[in-house]
Amino acid sequence: MKLLIADDDATSRYILESAATKWGFHPVVVEDGLKTLEVMSGPDAPGLILLDWEMPGLDGLSIARHLTSTNPEHPPYIIMLTARDNNNDIVSGLAAGASDYITKPFEIDILKARLQLARRNLELQNKLNKAMARLETLANVDELTGLPNRRAALKAISTQINRSKREQDQLCIGLCDIDFFKEVNDGHGHAAGDDVLKEIAGLLEEGFRDYDVIGRYGGEEFIFAVSANMNSADVLLERIRASINQATFMLSGQSHTITMSFGAVMVSNDGKTLDDWILYADEALYHSKASGRNRVTFYESDYSQDIDSPISA
Ligand code: GH3
Ligand code: MG
Ligand code: MG
Ligand code: MG
Repeated sequence: MKLLIADDDATSRYILESAATKWGFHPVVVEDGLKTLEVMSGPDAPGLILLDWEMPGLDGLSIARHLTSTNPEHPPYIIMLTARDNNNDIVSGLAAGASDYITKPFEIDILKARLQLARRNLELQNKLNKAMARLETLANVDELTGLPNRRAALKAISTQINRSKREQDQLCIGLCDIDFFKEVNDGHGHAAGDDVLKEIAGLLEEGFRDYDVIGRYGGEEFIFAVSANMNSADVLLERIRASINQATFMLSGQSHTITMSFGAVMVSNDGKTLDDWILYADEALYHSKASGRNRVTFYESDYSQDIDSPISA
């Protein structure tokens, strides 16, 4: 474990560095406040600091304040190690963000015990951070396809709606659904169906751009948001539809083609909710299905013209 030793006194630095090395730490040693900040803002900064109070450049108290306020989520573990030993100083040091406070002159065994305590705390914190990250992934990522799950996709799309309103950008929201997917499962088994879902999710992820949203809405249905006007969104969706149509899927040792139907709606600024837009997209998707599948339909209030001639396919 890396340990930053910040002290302007050469003898202290020497004693601390050799003791810390003996106890299994990897010390980085600096002799003033500015260098302390420099190391702490660099890449791979130590998570643990033995920090002197009085140093040229910037004092330890200001450094503690700065490091904890600039990184409130994961502040470093700071042990103030100082000759200032009155109660007010101890209180100020801990209030500034130090996790521990040791007064000079110190007992080497006490320092060792405190460093071991710091190591235990940091290791525990590290485990907790990993568990939190894992939970965050589980809560947001669809396990089968690796795409954002319904919850995460809806959240991202809400954010896009708000951004598009603020920046007066055009936004298209839609749903797409694999055609006759039940036949894949029925004819080739559920595991083959899962593989198809994964491959199609990959094609969708490739097809949409980084600043679009694509997520698994449920089953063999996906939800998306495209930041574009209707013409550009139509071009993009058509390209994705065609890429799926042109892909070959190996099922029971034979190559098959699979198609997908799309329903989309252009979001306008008229007080409707995300649920409303999804209903419109679903209606357009239904229209794609009813008019022959493997096509893109944009929502219109009236589809009566001709169910066999898709509106924008
Ligand atoms: P349509 O063209 O009208 O959409 O027909 P479809 O067969 O695709 O639609 P339907 O709703 O009848 O069937 C969808 C099937 O998708 C049924 C369900 O078992 C299957 N399915 C849903 N989620 C999964 C999954 O995670 N893995 C697999 N293998 N199948 C799934
Ligand atoms: Mg000093
Ligand atoms: Mg389907
Ligand atoms: Mg479906």
